[in-house]
Amino acid sequence: MKRYVTPQTGLAEGTGSKEEDSVLRQACQQILRTGAVSDDQQTLLVKTFEKRFVEAMKLVDQGRVKQVRFAPSGRTIWIVRGRRKEYQVVPLSRFCTCDDYYFRVMGHKKQLCYHLIAQHLAEALGNQDRSDLVDSDYAGFTAKWKPTIGPE
Ligand SMILES: [Zn+2]
Repeated sequence: MKRYVTPQTGLAEGTGSKEEDSVLRQACQQILRTGAVSDDQQTLLVKTFEKRFVEAMKLVDQGRVKQVRFAPSGRTIWIVRGRRKEYQVVPLSRFCTCDDYYFRVMGHKKQLCYHLIAQHLAEALGNQDRSDLVDSDYAGFTAKWKPTIGPE
């Protein structure tokens, strides 16, 4: 008789994401130092993220990563324009408002969605579309994501 064992949390969960995190972090550090992605780094990124890296680079190249700064607070939010919708990405908490993020986290895979990857690469490359708003615009601007957005 076969028994199906549910993996213990902490073992199966998170290992992939830690590796993804460190690959992405190292790539971004190198981009910040040298201004470009080296061939080795690119090979590693493709191997780690596969299609997600390709999709993320497309978003960056097409200028779909947007940084909005609010004055005078200096509060910054990141928005990635996907194929159908705009998503709010919170880099520090590795959070994104897309369905992909939701299902990955619910499935305990905790992988980075390609919007998050795109945000990191765009910021490192300095390739984001910037705009400035005033603090009084903040509530209205972020209202569409309110129900799912976590704390900054
Ligand atoms: Zn996403």
